[in-house]
Amino acid sequence: MTDGFIANFIDDCRAIVGAAHVLTDPVDTAPYLTDWRGRFTGRARAVVSPASTVEVAALVRLCAQHRVPVVPQGGRTGLVLGSVPDDSGTALLLSLRRLNRVRALDAVNRTITVDAGCILQHVQEAAAAENMLFPLSLAAEGSCTIGGNLATNAGGTGVLRYGNTRELCLGLEVVTAQGEVWDGLRGLRKDNTGYDLRDLYIGAEGTLGIITGAVLKLFPQPKASITALVGLCSPGDALQLLQLAESHCGPTLTGYELMSDVCLRLVATHFPALPQPFPGRYPEYALLELSSHESERHGVALLEGAIERALEAGIAQDAVVATSIAQSRALWAIREHIPLAQAAAGKNIKHDVSLPVSRIADFIDATDALLAAAYPGVQVVCFGHLGDGNLHYNIAPPEGIAHDDFLAEQAPVNRIVHDSVAAFGGSISAEHGVGALKRDELARYKPRVELDLMRALKAALDPLGIMNPGKIL
Ligand SMILES: Cc1cc2nc3c(=O)[nH]c(=O)nc-3n(C[C@H](O)[C@H](O)[C@H](O)COP(=O)(O)OP(=O)(O)OC[C@H]3O[C@@H](n4cnc5c(N)ncnc54)[C@H](O)[C@@H]3O)c2cc1C
Repeated sequence: MTDGFIANFIDDCRAIVGAAHVLTDPVDTAPYLTDWRGRFTGRARAVVSPASTVEVAALVRLCAQHRVPVVPQGGRTGLVLGSVPDDSGTALLLSLRRLNRVRALDAVNRTITVDAGCILQHVQEAAAAENMLFPLSLAAEGSCTIGGNLATNAGGTGVLRYGNTRELCLGLEVVTAQGEVWDGLRGLRKDNTGYDLRDLYIGAEGTLGIITGAVLKLFPQPKASITALVGLCSPGDALQLLQLAESHCGPTLTGYELMSDVCLRLVATHFPALPQPFPGRYPEYALLELSSHESERHGVALLEGAIERALEAGIAQDAVVATSIAQSRALWAIREHIPLAQAAAGKNIKHDVSLPVSRIADFIDATDALLAAAYPGVQVVCFGHLGDGNLHYNIAPPEGIAHDDFLAEQAPVNRIVHDSVAAFGGSISAEHGVGALKRDELARYKPRVELDLMRALKAALDPLGIMNPGKIL
């Protein structure tokens, strides 16, 4: 493309969004081009920040006319290189963060309609102001956007009770790859009128179109949330405790996280100010969250009842039940500091995998053994949303081997872990998506027919191939 074309193209972008919202100087564009973990820096023709659906549509039409690739970006907290462009410098980076209005809240329909660039935490706060709950919750909630949550079908800590972002969405507004606006902002819980286009765009990571608005489900605000940490002997015991807690507490059990002792030791080393909940140590820990719509006393009684049974049955070894919001936050802080402690310890090889819940313990035992045989002394840092069958199964080097050197083993380690995931009937991406990072792995593990159907959808909805190219497929 000629310099003249580029200048005209940039001028056309300025005419659509205003000169102040088109960045081309490398100093200004840099914060948008490096991924969250700092592993990759791409290049873009410009970073453009539209403020309305109409502006997004005009920009996409301009890009379609000139065959310019479009990379949508929300909070840039994605973990699979989905929201940063490649290093060709041909793409337009479309930042959605100025689309940040809460459009409407319908308390009777229990829905909130928001722009896609709204920060997740702001949506939670808008719901809470009306005594309602928007239950999507994850550690990046102060930065990630609803558009990014939808595009990656984010999970988080409330999936056990409320489902992934897909299950929290009733309607979408989308700018198609042709620059048309599809208004599907329907707040309907039942709508069987043909193909579900909403479900196509959710989880598509910006490869089919740009999400500009959404109707999201709200729930009654629980009266109390109770948290407990339980010391356990094994992942198998964690599964037994999950079953016991689910049948004892029913739908009041809203979260169930697993953390190994390796994780807690990492947190204790790098964040010594955080409290140590038990005097002794256990190989595994489960973090349980219960939400009561009756009262705190009701919630505590239910959770303590489940834990007592587990202690009597020898499933649980010890437990602490938080008796204040501060104590509850302190228990969650341990869980939330695991990724930060890992980062402080050095780089490691990460996997975000899902398995049938019933097979998790066997998967952990089998895969730990395979890795120990291939890399004696290797450290598995395993934690995750056990109630959803989702593990963050991360591998740190054996003592004495530098973290950076161990990264050279990424491909063979991935092969061991992902082959094991496949053997246990799991998925190589549970909640972070595919992006550019797992594209080749996806091609390896998805059945051919499934890949062909995905390619056919991509070709039908984005025939010019301009929507976030190189991601997923
Ligand atoms: C500390 C931390 C904790 C996390 N915890 C979790 C967790 O518990 N569960 C979980 O699922 N994820 C988690 N993540 C991953 C990430 O935060 C989520 O996936 C989040 O949903 C991404 O939102 P975002 O706005 O930052 O999207 P971005 O990173 O900006 O984009 C993600 C993908 O969505 C596309 N996209 C963004 N906006 C749009 C749009 N409007 N229309 C179309 N496509 C779009 C991008 O092109 C990209 O492919 C975590 C990340 C961090 C850094």
